[in-house]
Formats: sequence, structure tokens, C-alpha cells
Amino acid sequence: MATEPITVHAIINGQPISTDKKQPRENPANPEEIVGYAPVNSREDTVQAIEAAYQAFGSWKTSAVEERIERMRRAIEKLRAAIPDLARLLSREHGKPLYDAEGEFAISLMWMEFACDHVKEVVQEEVRQHEKGKTIISHDPIGVVSAITPWNYPISLSTIKIAPAILTGNTMVLKPSPFAPLAVSKVAEIISAEFPPGVLNLVHGEADVGVELTSHPKVAKIAFTGGTKTAKHIIKAASETIKKMTLELGGNDAAIILPGFDVNDERAMRRLVISNFLTAGQICMIAKRVYVHRSLYDEFVKKYREAADKWIRVGDPFHPQVTIGPVNNLGQVKYVQSLIDDAQQRGAEVIKLGKVVDPELFERGYFMQPTIVLGCDYHDPIVVEEQFGPTLPILPFDDEEQVIALHNESIYGLTSSVWGKEEDAIRVARRIEAGTTMINTAAVQGLDVRFPFGGVKQSGVGREYGLEGIRSYTETHVINIPTELELPYIPE
Ligand code: NAD
Repeated sequence: MATEPITVHAIINGQPISTDKKQPRENPANPEEIVGYAPVNSREDTVQAIEAAYQAFGSWKTSAVEERIERMRRAIEKLRAAIPDLARLLSREHGKPLYDAEGEFAISLMWMEFACDHVKEVVQEEVRQHEKGKTIISHDPIGVVSAITPWNYPISLSTIKIAPAILTGNTMVLKPSPFAPLAVSKVAEIISAEFPPGVLNLVHGEADVGVELTSHPKVAKIAFTGGTKTAKHIIKAASETIKKMTLELGGNDAAIILPGFDVNDERAMRRLVISNFLTAGQICMIAKRVYVHRSLYDEFVKKYREAADKWIRVGDPFHPQVTIGPVNNLGQVKYVQSLIDDAQQRGAEVIKLGKVVDPELFERGYFMQPTIVLGCDYHDPIVVEEQFGPTLPILPFDDEEQVIALHNESIYGLTSSVWGKEEDAIRVARRIEAGTTMINTAAVQGLDVRFPFGGVKQSGVGREYGLEGIRSYTETHVINIPTELELPYIPE
């Protein structure tokens, strides 16, 4: 179903800007097909975008919150109308099945609406009367925000930043990933058109653009989602001018299956399997390792394989029965395969799951058949690294102390899930080092835009979603007004 390639543009000060240099984005299901071209912006373009955002901030910061909400709601309605086309574009450039792409748009709009509904209470200033007079506590915008996003969820991880930043009076320069630049550019175009020029700018490119966005003195805050290694570069680049930062980084989330888990619960098994392999395993907040109590291990693996063989159907993202599409890019295929090969060389057993819907397409695209990996050592690379692809080690454990220690020795702590009797699962969850722990569910059901999301340890700094995710785009300003002037104390 090849269509003519589209070309997207940068947006600087409300204007579409094209560049001589463009980067093609291929369809991962059929890499010979070019879905579209994104500009490759220079550092100079990036500085212009930052300057435009800086100029726009001057008046946007004092705009009425009601006006910001009204404009954002108009943008939401325009996005809603565009979803059928944009979700298809996202599927083609990304590789995620259409149902998955539509789900990404749905959660994005849900969040944007939540941010519109709650921004007023977040920025509401407070006046406290006290014995010395009164104090005003206001929540002011920070300034120019650089938003840098990855390829796995380009729409939701951009709108998670755009909505609260702009609603609280900041301006923004957004830089998406070159591995999924097209649909998000259309989204930015739609949103930007509803706001004064310069409020939302868009540039494309790689690390050089990223370095400008994270070091320029007129950038006040960085909102980054991506890998932990990249974040370390960003922290260094930002250190010269001490920028505010929200960092949503990698994870090595665990699912812990306690002795009380019912392996015959088909609904739970379906949730586990699909959660593990949704978006071909390229989600920060899904299990990358599963620990099963030894008493259940063999039966669990058997039932897991049965459920996986039923629900995992790999193929064309537009095929109505397909649940898992290709991996987003060839580099990721090679990386995930290298972890699987390494595990196999160490003696692990690799078991393929599900079925391949169209073997000819499978050979052409960046497809990987999902696998579970058994017989790993607790510290094998496939267990301790973030695979970010369709493979999953399943390991046995003997007691709660051991599994909690195994969980917590990771450098990461994004999300986790615990499965079993509720009181046992909550007891274990309380001792787990993670930003979110889901009880008897995983992935999408465990994510709720009303509550803060983010990681501990090297999985991140700060929170997105929830009131916290809106507040993180504000600075607290305290204005003290004493009733009477007090003389300063000095020795007479
Ligand atoms: P990445 O770190 O390679 O790239 C992310 C973004 O950073 C891209 O736009 C990239 O162009 C840009 N970038 C690269 N070098 C830069 C630099 N030096 N300065 C500034 N920007 C730079 O990540 P990715 O491969 O696109 O995404 C996968 C990673 O994202 C995984 O580790 C995954 O766990 C993580 N992720 C985390 C969350 C979360 O909420 N915690 C969500 C999704 C993805």
C-alpha cells in the first residue's frame, strides 16, 4: 500500500522552514519504501528557533491561562479530527500496528485534556496571611523549554511535554527523533498553528542540534525522554547554565510472579504476554525480565508459551490480525539480536513465540519473532541490560528477599509489576525501588495520566503526567509583604 512520500518541515516563529538537506524515513515493515523526508536542521536553525521561542516568551508568559486553555482545546479538536490519517502515517514510519498507533493518539489527547482541566489549579497563586504580614506564592513559567524525544512513542512523549509547558506559559523548541519524525511534525504543525508565532517551534536533526538545545543560555529547561547514556551528555551540556531538567530515561523493569499467582488465569497471561511484547518490546515501561517463583516456574513457562502462541501474530502493521509489527530500525534489530546471541553462547535456551503472518514480508522488513530466553544467569547482559526489543528472559527465584534484591540491584528503576495475592504483591511492591509498581497488571493499564510517572535511580529525574507533570514547568516565586518595616538587628 505504498503512498507518495511526504515532506515535513521545521517550524520557526510560526513559519514552515525547509532545508536543502533532508533525511529519508523508511517504512520498517518494507524498508525499500520511503514514507517521507524530514529536514536536517543546522545549529544555526536551532539558534533561530530558540531565539523565536525566547522572543515569544516575553508576552506568552503574561497571557491569561484561560486563553492558553482555549487555544489548546482547539488544537486537541483539530488533532482528534486528524487521527485517522496521522495514526496511519505513524504506523508506516514507525512499524507499530495501527491499533497501537491509534492507542498512542488516544492517550496523548487524554493527557492534553487532563492538562487543560487542571492547569488552573496548578498555577493558582496562594496568598498566606500571617503575623508578619502576607506572602504571595505564585507558580511562574520557567522560560524556553527544549523538548527532546525518542522514537518509540513520538506523539505521546512530545505532547506529554508540549501541553503542560505551553499551558503554564512557557515556550518551546521540540526536537523529535529522526527514527519517527513525520507524524509528530504534523502534530506540532497543528498545535503550533493555534498559538502565537514562536510559542511552539520544531527542529529536526541529531546530536549537534541536541547539543545546541541543551547548552544554549536562553534555554531555561530541558524535558528529555530517551536513553540514559544520552542523558549523561545532556546533563554535562546543561551544567554550564544550570538548567531545570525533567529526564525520562531507560529502564530494566521486572515482572515478579509470586507463589499465589494463578498460572491458569488466561486473562492475566494475555495481559502479561501482550504487555511484554507490545510495540515489539520497544516501550520503556514494560517488563524486560520476569522472575517467577520456582514452585510455579515450569507451569508458568508452559502457560506463557500457550498464551503467546495465541496472541502474538507478527506482520504487516496494517493487517487486522497482527499484534506485533517490525522493530523500528536496523540498529535496534542488531542490538537485540546481539543480546540473544550472547545469551545463547552462554548456554541459554531461546524459544520463539507466536506466528509470522506473512513470511515474505518478514524477510524484507526489520522483523524479529518474539522470543523468551530460559536458563540465563541472573547477571547475563540480556537480563541486566535494557533490551528494548521483542525478547524476554524468564528466571526462577526462591524467596521474596532474593527477588527483591535482584530487582533492586539494577541501576534502573522505572516501573515494575508484581503478580500474586494482592496483600503479598503490595508487601513486595512497597520494598521495590521504582517510580511505578503495578499490581496484577502491566504496561498500558498500569499507566494513568492522572498520576505522576517517572523513574528512580538512573531511570530519570522528575515526573511527567499528573499534577506533578504540570507543576514541573513552573518555578515557585515567593513574594513577601510585611505589615511593618522591621529594623535590621545590628549591635548598637
Ligand atoms: P536516544 O537517547 O538515542 O535519543 C533520544 C533523543 O535524543 C533523540 O531525539 C536523539 O536525536 C536525541 N539526542 C541524541 N544525542 C543527543 C545529544 N548529545 N544531546 C541531545 N539530544 C540528543 O533514545 P532513543 O533510542 O530514541 O529511545 C530509546 C530510549 O528511550 C530507551 O532507553 C528507552 O527506555 C527510553 N525511553 C524512556 C521513556 C521514559 O518515560 N522513561 C519513554 C520512552 C523511551
